[in-house]
Amino acid sequence: MTDKNDINYRKPSWLQRNVKYIYITALLVWLPIWLWISWVTLAEQAHKDLHHRVYDDLSLFADSLNSELEKYQFIPKVLMLDASLVAQATNKSLVANADQSNQRLQHIRQTTNADEVFIMDATGTTIASTKLENIGNRYQHSPFYSSARAGGSGGFFTLGLHAGIRGYYFSEPLFEPDTDEVVGIIVVKVNMARLERNWLNKATPMLITDEYGVVIVSSTPSWLFTTRSPLTEVQKHHIRATSKYPMVSFPLLQTKVHKNTPYGQVVSLPKAGFKRVLEVTKSIPALNWTIYGQGDLGAAKRSVYQGAAISTLLWALLLSLAYVVTQRRLQLLETLHRREINQNRLQQAKDQLETRVTERTQALESSNDELKQAQQELIHAAKLATLGQLATSVTHEINQPLTAILVSAENAEQWLIRQKTDKALDNILQIKSLAHKMGLITSHLKTFGRKTDEKNEWVCPQTALDNALSLLLPRIKLEGVETLIDDMSAIKVLANDVRLEQVFINLLTNALDAMEKSICKRLSIYFQKNSSETLSQVTIYVSDTGSGIDSEHLHHLFDPFFSTKDVGVGLGLGLTISYSIIKTMGGELSAINSADGAVFAIQLQAKNQH
Ligand code: ADP
Repeated sequence: MTDKNDINYRKPSWLQRNVKYIYITALLVWLPIWLWISWVTLAEQAHKDLHHRVYDDLSLFADSLNSELEKYQFIPKVLMLDASLVAQATNKSLVANADQSNQRLQHIRQTTNADEVFIMDATGTTIASTKLENIGNRYQHSPFYSSARAGGSGGFFTLGLHAGIRGYYFSEPLFEPDTDEVVGIIVVKVNMARLERNWLNKATPMLITDEYGVVIVSSTPSWLFTTRSPLTEVQKHHIRATSKYPMVSFPLLQTKVHKNTPYGQVVSLPKAGFKRVLEVTKSIPALNWTIYGQGDLGAAKRSVYQGAAISTLLWALLLSLAYVVTQRRLQLLETLHRREINQNRLQQAKDQLETRVTERTQALESSNDELKQAQQELIHAAKLATLGQLATSVTHEINQPLTAILVSAENAEQWLIRQKTDKALDNILQIKSLAHKMGLITSHLKTFGRKTDEKNEWVCPQTALDNALSLLLPRIKLEGVETLIDDMSAIKVLANDVRLEQVFINLLTNALDAMEKSICKRLSIYFQKNSSETLSQVTIYVSDTGSGIDSEHLHHLFDPFFSTKDVGVGLGLGLTISYSIIKTMGGELSAINSADGAVFAIQLQAKNQH
């Protein structure tokens, strides 16, 4: 059953009810989004980093290539001032100094690490060379010839027609000092393989295309002399005209562009490990070349995977941590709230209990009062009943003096008629004494019959006993009961004398009833005093020689309505009332059987009399 006033726990808040779902939703929604954001950001960063790395490698390679080529570019510039070489070109000392001249070229080649140093005459025919087998070769279609022939510097990449070696040719004109006429051309050829050797085995794969898109340098040798896009007829014609390459058709380097990004193109190239690479380009304007570098997207992707996984995991951890912290905080708040409610409930229950206790106490007090009232009424009723029972013997008691008064009155009358006033006075005095005696009996009955209060005081039990005996005396005499009574006039007990008298009347009446059929009828009343330092008690015994009490009845004697007497004779309340009267005096009433009959013991507090 719940109390209407019961304090209820508040309903769980929206957050309390939904925190779990918020967490799950956040996990389901935010984790993929976070994963995607991490993925995009990290991939972008990885591309950027890869681009930077590849571009740096490309720049280094380009710079190094440039500086190497520049170094070789200067050699013919220095050699063009050499008079012996000019003389050689003009054939002035050709025969005499041919060997000497070749040795000199050889010396230059060795010192500069060039692939070949040779001199052409003004028609483009090799007249002296570090490679003797090349003497007689003609280069009149080569741009490096035409540039020098026109008096300028020449530079040209080509695949050697004769030896098939990729080389870069630098040329300078040899001027006739007197006429400033170009009489020959000095050429220094650099082997490209030598220049690229130190770079192509680097971590970043690279390739270089020339102005036509033909791959002329590559870390993958099979891609050499392929093209990134098909050549146009004009380009082919140009190649043919300049004898740049011995062929004009080149296989196409199969390149698939997947994506254009701000950091380069994502492409596939026909080689294992080049399925998806980031291709970064850089042009070398001086040479009209383009350099390509391929960055490994696979490795970058792996690091993106790892980064995205770690970041997502961290996010999940952070989310879980936030969930746990929120959950704990909500639980704590709930616990505090419940504790407060419980305390309030406890207080409320305490208050209710106190109110109930007060109400019950009041109810108990009032029913106690009612009970006391009823008890008083019962005692009084019993007393009146006793009076009724005593009516016969009281009538007998009153009749005797009444008869005596009548006789004395008649005697007094006679004596007055005879003028014997003294005799008449005697009779009148007797009448007076008898009337006084009657007055005593009636006044006692009046006192006994009236309602008494419960007040206990130190009284002499002898008075109460005498009063009781005086009321029962006619019956005692009538039934020839022998009485043995101790003198108790010296002791005082804590009692209410009218009530004590009521108890005596009850006990004596029961004793007389029990002895009705006895041959020996003896009523003994005696007492025993027990004194200690703190307590003084007296026990008054009422003993008879009656039927005694059945042992099975002993425990029920003081129960209400227990009676062995005939219906209408006994009500079974006498001992019950006597018991409660003695209790109100702070005493005890008990019964035992003696050898002759029954003994009732009244134990009362006695006044210490020193
Ligand atoms: P009542 O006298 O109306 O029966 P009591 O309460 O006075 O009621 O007595 C209860 C019963 O106790 C009596 O009926 C009787 O059987 C028994 N009793 C009381 N006094 C004596 C006694 N002196 N001797 C034997 N029995 C007694």
